[in-house]
Amino acid sequence: MPDQQQRQTVAPGVERSLATAVSPSTPEHLYKKRTQVYPKRIKGTFRTLKWVAMIVLLGIYYITPWLRWDRGPASPDQAVLIDFENARFYFFFIEIWPQEVYYITGLLILSAIGLFLATALFGRVWCGYACPQTIWTDLFIAVERFFEGDRNARIKLDKSPWTANKIFKKTSKHIVWLLIAMATGGAWVLYFHDAPTVLRDLLSGHAPQTAYVFLALMTFLTYALAGFMREQICIYMCPWPRIQAAMIDDEALNVTYRYDRGEPRGAHKKGETWEGRGDCIGCRQCVAVCPTGIDIRDGAQLECIDCALCIDACDAIMIKIGRPKGLIAYDTDANIERRLRGEPNRFRLVRPRTVIYATIFALVGSIMLYGLLNRSVLDMNVLRDRIPNYVRLSDGSIRNGYTIKILNKASEPRELRLEAIGLGDINMSVVGLKNIEGAFILSAPADETLDYKIYLAIKDVSDLSEREIFNLQLTDLKNGDTTLTETMFITGNTD
Ligand code: SF4
Ligand code: SF4
Repeated sequence: MPDQQQRQTVAPGVERSLATAVSPSTPEHLYKKRTQVYPKRIKGTFRTLKWVAMIVLLGIYYITPWLRWDRGPASPDQAVLIDFENARFYFFFIEIWPQEVYYITGLLILSAIGLFLATALFGRVWCGYACPQTIWTDLFIAVERFFEGDRNARIKLDKSPWTANKIFKKTSKHIVWLLIAMATGGAWVLYFHDAPTVLRDLLSGHAPQTAYVFLALMTFLTYALAGFMREQICIYMCPWPRIQAAMIDDEALNVTYRYDRGEPRGAHKKGETWEGRGDCIGCRQCVAVCPTGIDIRDGAQLECIDCALCIDACDAIMIKIGRPKGLIAYDTDANIERRLRGEPNRFRLVRPRTVIYATIFALVGSIMLYGLLNRSVLDMNVLRDRIPNYVRLSDGSIRNGYTIKILNKASEPRELRLEAIGLGDINMSVVGLKNIEGAFILSAPADETLDYKIYLAIKDVSDLSEREIFNLQLTDLKNGDTTLTETMFITGNTD
């Protein structure tokens, strides 16, 4: 056991940490008992970067439901809203209808390609800085450290018998964890309804049952995943470490132990030369700070989330012992090979795979942008009656029936003129509406879909084919916007 080992000075002013890798790089039994990881506090450039990333991302998550966006009186004013009730997704100026679910598909493709590109360039940068599991775990560890102290104090506390002091510390920690978990679950629910209303209803006990169910579920998940399961999620449950192996090549930047510089490792006494030996003094500070409990000196590992905290830890040691920083650094396997061959470092950000990912990303992004900028706010779906296909009226005319569905995606009501284009002399009727001066004017309420039943009749079909293709056209009386939908008229002519 690590803490049964003797404390040892490995360089002037540097004690060897008792930390050992709890997830060793050698194969392990799949059902082994979990060894608790107690990451040590560390200060440094990457730790600061992680704090900033955490504050920004948590800020975005908690604040977004409270942002407002004016879309007119007929639409909700929440900037980001997943409105299941009315089947809409609102994202600032973008409003996605169920018929436009391809935008969501495009967004998912864009996110996946973006992730592939980032991984090919900078390794598991997502895991280390932006993944929710990393962020909430980091936050929960900070709370734990606040109440229970740093690594050694926490190990000692866990081994000590239950006293009033221990009960107080543990209880306080769990209360704060639960409050954070509830805030997380609460914020999640706010994305699905008007935030101020839901919060008021939640507090007064009048929110829908589903809101309480999801609040409880997200609270439980946050509490369990960030408080207890932590690195186990990354190591055993998340598929991304397995997938990323395909994204990464020898030229991808990863948190790397530069063994070409570090080996052979060993304690260093004052006044001893650094000639003929490596810079690693075996202090294990890189292991002590690692949130997944691995030893980066064992090489690239599935468990490494590229959080770079071991870089900060090792840099602090290098400063202490007067050696250059960067024994652990963002580097590539190819560079290590190059240095071993006596060649200079080369960072190849432009490689076939990064070019391919960037091209696909730009292509999908441009298509989506074009689609969004040219998105029509007026749509019409036409469904022709099939039973019967046509009716012969008493005056000999042939009549077809249609159901048209008008989608007015604008935030104001519209008056629309309906016309049949390309059928010649027809007689149109719309159920429930009168023909006004030769045209039918349909009303389309703001941000709604509305169905109309229409009939088209042609007196003489002798010159027409069995199936005549034509268009139904809607024209906005106010701004002249038009939408055309192609459909068919069945004449019954078989000659
Ligand atoms: S890599 Fe750096 S932090 Fe890790 S044991 Fe060696 S000197 Fe210490
Ligand atoms: S080895 Fe270093 S980069 Fe990898 S998870 Fe541990 S501390 Fe983070």
